[in-house]
Amino acid sequence: MAAIQELDSPDGVLVLMDLGSAVLSAEMALDLLPDDVRGRVRLSAAPLVEGLVAAAVQAAAGADLDRVAAEASNGLAGKAMHLGVDDAPPPSTTPSGEVTAAPADDVAEGRWTVGPAHGLHARPAARLVTVLGTFDVVATATNLTTGRGPVDARSVSMVVGLGLQQDHVLGLRVTGGRADAAIEAVEALAADNFGDPVTTDAPGPAATEPSASIRTTATAVPTTSGDGTITGLAASGGLAIGLAVRVGGLPGERPLPPAGAVDATTQHQLLDDALVAVEDQLARTRAVMAATDAATAEVLDAHLALLADPALTKVAHADIDDGAAAVVAWWDAVDAAARLWADLDDDYLAERVDDVRAVGGEVLAHLTGSAGTTPADIDGVMVTTDLLPTDAAGLDPSRVVGVLAANGSPTSHAALLLRAKGIPAVLGAGPAVDDIADGTTVLLDGDAGTATVDPQPDVTAAAQRAITARTAEVESMRRAAQQPAVTRDGTTVLVAANVGVTADAAAAAREGADGIGLLRTELQFLERTTAPDEEEQVEAYTIACRAMGDRHVILRTLDVGGDKPLTYLPLPNEDNPFLGLRGLRVGLHQPELLATQLRAVIRVAAHHPLRVMVPMASTAEEIRDVRGMLDAQLAALADDGVDVPATIPLGAMVEVPSAALAAEAIVDAVDFLSIGTNDLVQYTMAAERGNPAVAHLADPFHPAVLRLVAMVTRAAGPAGVPVGVCGDLAADPLATPLLLGLGVQELSVPPPMVGRIKQRVREVDLAEATRLAERALDAGSGTEVRSLLR
Ligand code: PEP
Ligand code: MG
Repeated sequence: MAAIQELDSPDGVLVLMDLGSAVLSAEMALDLLPDDVRGRVRLSAAPLVEGLVAAAVQAAAGADLDRVAAEASNGLAGKAMHLGVDDAPPPSTTPSGEVTAAPADDVAEGRWTVGPAHGLHARPAARLVTVLGTFDVVATATNLTTGRGPVDARSVSMVVGLGLQQDHVLGLRVTGGRADAAIEAVEALAADNFGDPVTTDAPGPAATEPSASIRTTATAVPTTSGDGTITGLAASGGLAIGLAVRVGGLPGERPLPPAGAVDATTQHQLLDDALVAVEDQLARTRAVMAATDAATAEVLDAHLALLADPALTKVAHADIDDGAAAVVAWWDAVDAAARLWADLDDDYLAERVDDVRAVGGEVLAHLTGSAGTTPADIDGVMVTTDLLPTDAAGLDPSRVVGVLAANGSPTSHAALLLRAKGIPAVLGAGPAVDDIADGTTVLLDGDAGTATVDPQPDVTAAAQRAITARTAEVESMRRAAQQPAVTRDGTTVLVAANVGVTADAAAAAREGADGIGLLRTELQFLERTTAPDEEEQVEAYTIACRAMGDRHVILRTLDVGGDKPLTYLPLPNEDNPFLGLRGLRVGLHQPELLATQLRAVIRVAAHHPLRVMVPMASTAEEIRDVRGMLDAQLAALADDGVDVPATIPLGAMVEVPSAALAAEAIVDAVDFLSIGTNDLVQYTMAAERGNPAVAHLADPFHPAVLRLVAMVTRAAGPAGVPVGVCGDLAADPLATPLLLGLGVQELSVPPPMVGRIKQRVREVDLAEATRLAERALDAGSGTEVRSLLR
């Protein structure tokens, strides 16, 4: 009953249920509901899974309750037809009164000009497929404008693959008992603009499509110069030189068929075996990643789905029937799908191009017997078309000197992993990358975003000298980083690590971090369709804590909103998302999300030195509300007999000027503080952090920002509340004496920076640094502060 009430709206509620007691409870719920709500509820006898899928597609397309209910009832029709069995559900009546029937030999055809501004993209295509799914027919679709097709009109990916843009003509051929009725239904759909809003504006970003991720696009046009230098995007800093090792992805060249005659039966078997082997391997990797890296697990889910997509498998098997060898048939099918999708003006499919090439390459590697090369085996410069987060996670920085990829961007999850490992990388370098042969010398400059293929001997020698000097320096810093960082006057400063995914925690420990100063848990929540549950969170946080042993881990609660929307979190549209429901505000607005996370934190804190910190606190009351939730969850878990710690240190990030300006009150409410300079700068200078047009204003060295930092340390010092900095400013060696002079006690930086910052701390004399900080506070500009520090 609660579920019905939660979903209730004038549109009504369709209830699908299991057998037996589920039916009884659903009926009882109906009896108990108020009359008006009950009048809007339909109990459906539809199959639970197929009915739900059919109903959801139809509801998403905006159909009314009766139509959704009818769709649900027809949920088994497609499967029954596909399997050729006649134990399909009894024919059901559609809202328009038509009765679906077994196929006969009727053939009907229709053609329509595509109306939607974005063509027949994923949603209108899904509507077409759904409409056809209500009839027991076979249907093929063709793009009559371009001649593409015919394809199975009941596969969304195939229909979208026709590239039907606005004003293209869709042709449909339907065979079966109610072919005419199916054509009429499509006619009605086409008259309704395929369910899309009718716009008279020029096509722009589809307002109705939710943004699926925080993916941003960096712009650099890949170029190749005369001296063999390819320009891409600087994704992870540093120089690297080594021999190219090509990995993964679909090779640019069509493979040669095996010598001799090709036996179709054997080739079908080879392809099926390769598909099963890759599926097995992906499923195993996915099971491991699910606990530590939800975003990667989701990518792998997409890959698993592609392995079963008829747009690839059916096409390849058909080619084999026509005499092609499995390697050639598979390469052709994948290459054709990737090219087709890349050409389409459809963001969703354009993003899938990387996936289809990656998974296609893996199957091909099995077919050609070269599946043994995994990223873990690489010595040299990894050269690839696409870099998956899983590949990046598996790289050994002592063997992979650099990464060069044709696709990808510095903001990708894979790039973040490379930076955390300190592997220089150039991504998005374009198709020229695909021409680099195995064993070619490649010089990478991860700061400039360039790759030189076969560099001149003098260039190589100079780069080699720079790398040798840098490696020696890094090695000595890493060795020294295993010891505490103590200033010249004998004060120990904690240098901790910022960790994005729990797998980074191992790197943090290896680099000598004194703890984790910022565990950005939101990465576990993004790019998926539901929030991770308590168990999943417990597993992930335990992995991070285990890697750090007895060193502390500061876990930041979910920090989403603003530039990090969650597709499954119903937050209102806001004119100023950075000033709206963001950070802690989301947790207080959706308390069940925060409560689940706090429960997971408590359970892990029973066995590890885990602390919890809230992002974007503006007032002390907000923090007290969280403490109330934390105490309530502690008590509830203890009552349930779960191991809980006596207490958990609760901290807050200072990222909003109000928290610094009223620091005394904030200090009263917390056990520790950490200053997030990235956001503090954005809110102090009113300069959005992702907007390059105001980047010159977003200066963390500006005295306005520094004075807020000083307000925090001055309020916290007397109360014995430790203050750290986990924003990017902490990782800038120029800022080290300044921050220590301002009274900051802990610096939290990306793992590869730990050694460098520890070394810098050792050069500082606190008394001198304090005098320097005083002068910086009085300076008139960020530039003045910088020159003072230099
Ligand atoms: C910050 O704002 O400085 C911070 C560390 O948080 P994030 O960059 O994750 O917003
Ligand atoms: Mg922040």
